[in-house]
Amino acid sequence: MGIVGQSTTETHADLRAAVRELCRNFPGSYWRELDAQRAYPEAFVQALTEAGYMATLIPEEYGGAGLGVTEAAAILEEIHASGGNAGACHAQMYIMGTLLRHGSEKQKREYLPKIASGALRLQAFGVSEPNTGSDTTQLKTTAVRQRTVYLINGQKIWISRAEHSDLMLLLARTTPLDQVKKRTEGLSAILVDMKQAVGRGLRIRPIRTMMNHATTELFFDNLEVPVENLVGEEGQGFRYLLDSLNAERILIAAECIGDGRWFLERASSYARERVIFGRPIGQNQGVQFPIARAYANVQAARLMVSRAAGLFDEHKPCGAEANMAKLLAADASWESGNVALQTFGGFGFAEEYDIERKFRETRLYQVAPISTNLILSYLAEHVLGLPRSY
Ligand SMILES: Cc1cc2nc3c(=O)[nH]c(=O)nc-3n(C[C@H](O)[C@H](O)[C@H](O)COP(=O)(O)OP(=O)(O)OC[C@H]3O[C@@H](n4cnc5c(N)ncnc54)[C@H](O)[C@@H]3O)c2cc1C
Repeated sequence: MGIVGQSTTETHADLRAAVRELCRNFPGSYWRELDAQRAYPEAFVQALTEAGYMATLIPEEYGGAGLGVTEAAAILEEIHASGGNAGACHAQMYIMGTLLRHGSEKQKREYLPKIASGALRLQAFGVSEPNTGSDTTQLKTTAVRQRTVYLINGQKIWISRAEHSDLMLLLARTTPLDQVKKRTEGLSAILVDMKQAVGRGLRIRPIRTMMNHATTELFFDNLEVPVENLVGEEGQGFRYLLDSLNAERILIAAECIGDGRWFLERASSYARERVIFGRPIGQNQGVQFPIARAYANVQAARLMVSRAAGLFDEHKPCGAEANMAKLLAADASWESGNVALQTFGGFGFAEEYDIERKFRETRLYQVAPISTNLILSYLAEHVLGLPRSY
C-alpha cells in the first residue's frame, strides 16, 4: 500500500498510476507557491491537457478519449490523493457534457475537437448570482434576443476560472419568470466567447478567497452574444444543466475522496514517526481511533461515488446517488482534514506540511457546488417523500 486506500487490485490501476506519475512533477512546493501568490496552475493544467486527461469524457469522434465519469473520477481522485488540486480545471470535464448532449452538430464539430486538443478551454460555468444564491431558478441575469444577438445584462458571482477560460457556459433568463408555467422554464444555456466579451459588455473582477481558486464576479452590461451560441432549445437550459450537475457532484466527490486519502496517509505516517512521551503518538488510541474512523468513512463514501459514477455511465437516473456521494465524500474529507490537523499538532499549522492548505481547500466542498443543506433537502423531498421545506 502506498497512498492510503490504494491497492494493486484497484479498478483502473494503470490509469491511476499514470496520473500519480504526472502529479509527481507537481509536488507540494509547487502548490504552496501558487497558493501564496493566488496564481493559476498553468503548467499543471497544460500537462493534464497534453496527457489527454482533460478530454476524458469527450467522445473519440470529436478527438477525446471517449471514457466515462468512472474514469474521470479516478483521474481527479488521484490528483487530490497526490496532494494537488484539480479545482483549476475540473469543470472542463463536465461542462462540455451539456454541449455534447444538447448542442447542435455544428457546435460540437466546431468546439469539441478544439477543447479535446487544448486549443480552447471551456472551464467557466456561469450560474450563481449574488442575490439569488442556491435558489437558481430565480436568477436575474437576462438574455434578450434582438435579431442576430442576445443582449445580456446582469451579474454573476463565484464564477471560477473565468479569466483562464476561452468559453463560458452561461445560464440566463430568456423568458421572464411571470411568463413561464414552471420556474425551471425560460432559462437558456448560452456559450460566451470570453476573449470577445471582455471589455465589450463583460467585466471580470477577481475575488480573493481563503484558498487559491481563481474565482470571480462578472458584470454584464449589454453584452452581445450571437444567437447561434444558444445551446439546444431556448428556455430549456436548466434541464440541460441537470445532467452536468450530477457529473459535477460525482467528480467533486471523487476529489474529496482523494483529499481524504491524502490527509489520512499524512496523518498515519506522521503518527507512526512522531515520538512523544517515549512512544509514537499513533500508539495512543486517542490518536489512532479518529484516523481509523475517518478511514472507514472515506472508504464508505468511495463506494457511493463509485455507484453514482457507474449509474451515470449506464445512463441511469443517479440524482440521489450523485448527491449522496457529494454529501458523504465532502463530510469524510473534512473529517480527515480535521483529524490530520489534530494529529500534526502545531506542525499542522505550518505551511510547509501542506495540511493547512489542503484543509482550507477541502472545506469548500461543504458549500460548493451545492451546500450540504440543499443536498439534505433534496434527499428529504425527492427520495423520502417529505414535504418541500422551502
Ligand atoms: C470558491 C467558490 C467557487 C465557486 N464556483 C462557482 C462556479 O464556478 N460557478 C457557479 O455558478 N457557482 C460557483 N460557486 C457558487 C456556489 O455554487 C454557491 O456558493 C453555492 O451554491 C451556495 O450559494 P450561496 O453562496 O449563494 O449560498 P446561499 O444560497 O445564500 O446559502 C447560504 C447558506 O444557507 C443555507 N441555506 C439556504 N437556503 C436554505 C434552505 N432552504 N434550507 C436550509 N439551508 C439553506 C445554505 O445551505 C448555505 O449554507 C462557487 C462558490 C465558491 C465559494
